[in-house]
Amino acid sequence: MTFYSDTYHKILRIQRRWLWNQLKFPLLPGKYKNTPAIRKYMFSRATGPDPVVCHAPYRSVYFGFNGNVQPCCFNREHLYGKYPEKSVSEILESPNRKKLQHALQNQDFTYGCKHCYNQIKTGNYEGAEARLYDGLKSNEKWYPSEMIFELDNTCNLECIMCEGRFSSAILKNREHKPYKPGPYNEKLVEQLKPYLSKLEVAKFMGGEPFLINIHYKIWDAILETNPRCVINLQTNGTVFNDKIANLLKRGHFQIGVSIDSLQKDKFETIRKNAVFEKVLDNLEKFIAAGKKSGHHINISTCPMQQNRYEIPDILRFCNDKNVFVYFNTVYTDGFDLRELSCKELEELVLYYRKSINTLPTSNYLQRRNLKFLKSLTSQIHTWWQEKKAEHDKRLKTKTITRNDLHALLSGKLNDNPNAQDKLVTIINTLPETLLISDHQLNHLNNIKDDEFIWEMENNDIKTLRYIIEYFFENQTFPDMQ
Ligand code: SF4
Repeated sequence: MTFYSDTYHKILRIQRRWLWNQLKFPLLPGKYKNTPAIRKYMFSRATGPDPVVCHAPYRSVYFGFNGNVQPCCFNREHLYGKYPEKSVSEILESPNRKKLQHALQNQDFTYGCKHCYNQIKTGNYEGAEARLYDGLKSNEKWYPSEMIFELDNTCNLECIMCEGRFSSAILKNREHKPYKPGPYNEKLVEQLKPYLSKLEVAKFMGGEPFLINIHYKIWDAILETNPRCVINLQTNGTVFNDKIANLLKRGHFQIGVSIDSLQKDKFETIRKNAVFEKVLDNLEKFIAAGKKSGHHINISTCPMQQNRYEIPDILRFCNDKNVFVYFNTVYTDGFDLRELSCKELEELVLYYRKSINTLPTSNYLQRRNLKFLKSLTSQIHTWWQEKKAEHDKRLKTKTITRNDLHALLSGKLNDNPNAQDKLVTIINTLPETLLISDHQLNHLNNIKDDEFIWEMENNDIKTLRYIIEYFFENQTFPDMQ
């Protein structure tokens, strides 16, 4: 994948924005058209707004475990076909691929695209998988410009947040189930060959990619037919040998190393079976190989309950090493940040915001890494807001009658007949009794008389009714700026 310069991105964005404003962006067709979240997301894209909200079904294809071929790693519901029952070309030309292309052209996320919709809705634009496909080129016909391979789960680690599906060691030692080899074999490599020459990127997941034999066969086929293709993989950093060093010299490898803590004890607890010093040593070797081939290395981190306060330190470490950071979203019970209490989430947001102010922004890499932390912070802030609203709702334990509410508020209006009339009209539209929390009651009691009179005099009945209904629904008054 190409890393555009900062300036090039800026020019591209400005051009696209201008063009979209000319084309009346609000008229975008589709099921979720013009929702503020989608609109903001469109403008956050490095390549600028684009009516196709995700290019994955056009430009990429994902070979998953058990022969399932799907649009991306998050969409495991909308399959294109199953290998080897269907050949690679039948899968790439499947009606389901076409169907998803059409849906995402219309911002319709209902065919298994929940993950991206949720990331966009919560403002974590950098965490939306969809944006990873924006920078890829479009090929003619059914040819993808990217292939992602998750062919086998052979792995030497038993990471605490992982499961047997992704690690043969966990399958054996934690889940006590037998390892089942996947259906992918040499025939797959033959069927892939016509498509490999058109690839811009090939990504390899695991398991641990360097421990999976068929990967070496596909890498050889890529290096023969298309040596310019970027080979991207996510490694746990435990394996590095002469065979790997030689491969890195021959191809355009782009390596992501998983690091979730910089504290030896914590790292080895999270990444069970790994040795911290060994992984750091291998990281240096990958960085050195990346420098020679002209490709950046990234560190991929899983922000979890266990390491949440280490995230800014990991980002500083990435800046020092001149590597990109990438944050995964962990949904596993016991690790998922969304399980934190309201107070813990709020503290975390404040901690990240404080760190954001101290992080450097003097080059592209630092600015890009900071953007990822900002995006993560925004996502956690949204989770906090949702949890707080839920929490506040539960605190609604008192009942207030319409008459009591009228008595409380009319006492603030003194002798102001016009405002008193408006208040009666509004109160009469409310239910006979309402549920209210202590927090809300205090809020009403603390409204200053002159401010309340001003609001009653300067808003029409419809607006005042909206304000009061919003208050009972959301525990606070709406922001009317
Ligand atoms: S919208 Fe997200 S989940 Fe759906 S295909 Fe694109 S990247 Fe995958």
